[in-house]
Amino acid sequence: MRIDHLSFEFFPPKTAEGAARLRAARSRLYAHAPEFCSVTFGAGGSTQQGTLDTVLEIAAEGMRAAPHLSCIGGSRGSLRELLLRYRAQGIRRIVALRGDLPSGYGLGGELAHASDLVRFIRDETADWFHIEVAAYPEMHPQAASPAEDLRHFVAKMRSGADSAITQYFFNPDGYLRFVDEVRAAGIDAPVVPGIMPITNASQLLRFSEVCGAEVPRWLRLRLQGFGDDRASIVAFGCDVVAALCRRLLDGGAPGFHFYTLNQAEASLGVLERLAAA
Ligand code: FAD
Repeated sequence: MRIDHLSFEFFPPKTAEGAARLRAARSRLYAHAPEFCSVTFGAGGSTQQGTLDTVLEIAAEGMRAAPHLSCIGGSRGSLRELLLRYRAQGIRRIVALRGDLPSGYGLGGELAHASDLVRFIRDETADWFHIEVAAYPEMHPQAASPAEDLRHFVAKMRSGADSAITQYFFNPDGYLRFVDEVRAAGIDAPVVPGIMPITNASQLLRFSEVCGAEVPRWLRLRLQGFGDDRASIVAFGCDVVAALCRRLLDGGAPGFHFYTLNQAEASLGVLERLAAA
């Protein structure tokens, strides 16, 4: 099946061993010629140098790298400094987010919403960066209603974003309807589905609880039925996620952004099944 857009997301490794494992995973994923690879950014300081280091490593490997940047807890000055560092390094794409503060940090920051950050990036660096933002086909967990969340998303796109990547989901109908509504609101920009390969059932259920992604009952029960049999979970997960991707492509999705969790195996399993379809 033809996939026009492909991107991979990583998080900054915490140890030298983690960095070596990520390097190995990246080199396997590069075989699929992604448009870019993105690197997450943690509010609260600890992983921010890691984002920069990983982004520079990816760029040095000849791949287009896109740092995530979140505004919560940050000042205009610290955000400006990072933007200018990325620009000086020739980085041309950025994933602009509000972010979430770790518990205990309270609230804060000079920019309240991702739309404020998008505007700030445009004010500071004009059209240097291609700006990606986050989208939530199943609604952001803090939104009052899907309609209000959609309004905020549309405003965020109008504030200067070029394209969007969604939170992961397992229900293609939710994504397709969301895109229809975004189009009806006059936004033509690509909304790339975020894809979560399945490697660990309990981790997936925990993540999904926090970020508001629905794991359908049938999928949860099937995954729980495999117990600790990781090989079966990965094989079953690849089948399920590849079927989801096929439905999305058939429905007009432009391609995929894979949440790799710094591992190549499951993303490659999905892509191999898609290539064979
Ligand atoms: P926003 O777009 O600001 O939306 C957050 C909430 O505020 C929504 O409920 C929205 O409806 C509401 N809202 C928006 N504008 C307004 C307004 N003007 N008035 C009132 N309410 C408003 N987190 C990280 O910490 N680091 C990362 O690297 C990271 N990467 C991510 C990558 C992707 C592709 C995605 C989908 C999420 C990522 N996240 C990351 C998680 C993200 O930071 C959280 O979901 C966060 O809670 C919201 O960020 P946002 O950019 O979507 O915020």
